Amino acid sequence: MTNLQQAIKLPVFEKISSYCKENNIECYVVGGYVRDFLLKRKSKDIDVLVLGNGIEIAKNIARSLDEKIQVTVFNTFGTAYFKYKDFEIEFVGARKESYSSNSRNPIVESGTFKEDIDRRDFKINSMAISLHPKSFGDLIDLHNGLDDLENCVINTPLDAVITFSDDPLRMLRAIRFASQLNFSVSEKLIRIINELKSRIEIVTNERIVDELNKILLSDTPSIGFNLLEKTGLLDFILPEITNLKGIDEIEGQKHKDNFYHTLEVLDNICKSTENLWLRWAALLHDIGKAPTKKFDKKIGWTFHGHEFEGSKMVYKLFKRLKMPLNEKMKYVQKLVLMSSRPIVLAQNNVTDSAVRRLIFDASDAVDDLMTLCEADITTKNKSRFKRYHENFRLVREKIIKVEEKDNIRNFQPPITGAEIMKTFNLKPCKTIGSIKESIKEAILEGDIENNYEEAFKLMIKEGEKLGLSDGK
Ligand code: ATP
Ligand code: MG
Repeated sequence: MTNLQQAIKLPVFEKISSYCKENNIECYVVGGYVRDFLLKRKSKDIDVLVLGNGIEIAKNIARSLDEKIQVTVFNTFGTAYFKYKDFEIEFVGARKESYSSNSRNPIVESGTFKEDIDRRDFKINSMAISLHPKSFGDLIDLHNGLDDLENCVINTPLDAVITFSDDPLRMLRAIRFASQLNFSVSEKLIRIINELKSRIEIVTNERIVDELNKILLSDTPSIGFNLLEKTGLLDFILPEITNLKGIDEIEGQKHKDNFYHTLEVLDNICKSTENLWLRWAALLHDIGKAPTKKFDKKIGWTFHGHEFEGSKMVYKLFKRLKMPLNEKMKYVQKLVLMSSRPIVLAQNNVTDSAVRRLIFDASDAVDDLMTLCEADITTKNKSRFKRYHENFRLVREKIIKVEEKDNIRNFQPPITGAEIMKTFNLKPCKTIGSIKESIKEAILEGDIENNYEEAFKLMIKEGEKLGLSDGK
């Protein structure tokens, strides 16, 4: 028997252990904490399985640790958790579950240790470490989870058809764990997920998005997205991404496969950022290419306006999946809409005015936009790869220089509409907007500096052109 005393060396485990001894209760650490310890991954969540009332035991142990600890109770699930030091410790009484076909929420009854272990989703999540003083630290591995950990593969403890149809969220969890741990999903499981994929429809959008976010936050999200595609789940969840698949050929002309390109961009960007929403932008940056694809005899394949189309699709996708429609969505939309701008810019001589316009339009997202564009360079041609990166390096340099000089980010017009009205004695009318626009344009073009004096002079000049009197 493997002994894992090292995994449970924390004082909190000793407290739990001695409480359970005094009260003659069996208890175990189970699931993710055990798995992650064996994989040498840090884990802050501890799940404790007790043969008894999880809620009561959680309350008593919390009290014995520190009177001030707040215990959060979920009566419907029969679980309770509290935070202690860096850890979140959840207690659950051993249970068995039975499912109906239209809900992933089971009917729960108390059960034995084995029944509780058997209801767990994957072998790698079904291992337990005893906290009982007599067997403190012993690993109990009823389903050979250790073998799967060694072989880096995900399997279910019981018949996968039942596991997945009972709770279809597990199909996504399998793929998410594969992406997070760099594991494979067994061929048998892939086949079964493919058969049962439409069951995903009973899972709420919130849970689906939770799993997608975890895939996106993994080191190599393409592992997860390739599996989502291979199992057919992606069609149900993000059809916009499956629609990017495939290469068309007309008159000997081909375009690239935008699905695999997207995954490459996504993996690339994960090397430079932990920002979930920038990762979403990388995933969605080309979704407008499917509906805008056309073949032109003279030019070949075109995707005109795909950035605009894509940014509209971002809104619909976020809405469908019940994701936030706040500034996060707008940020993703902006990055998708502007995703080709730096590329066009870098193809020509990089002028100050083009850079000023880029900063003006992208504002605080300008650095992330550059990161996205750099990740978007997936050419296998080495000299082209180098040239594009060099061009973007120049754009980045220029952004810094222009910013030092011009303060364009979060641009505030140096002359307000109120001042224009006062100067020319005007009531609200279109003329005010047009003078403001001329001032903004002159600043972006570099004809005048971004300050009050120069803007004021230009305002007077523009007013004269329009035959307005400044009352002097
Ligand atoms: P992480 O917290 O890193 O996502 P985890 O394995 O701890 O991974 P949790 O969702 O916290 O996952 O669940 C804790 C444990 O509960 C799992 O390890 C697994 O044994 C069990 N479990 C969780 N969700 C399910 C489910 N839908 N079906 C079956 N067992 C589950
Ligand atoms: Mg957990």
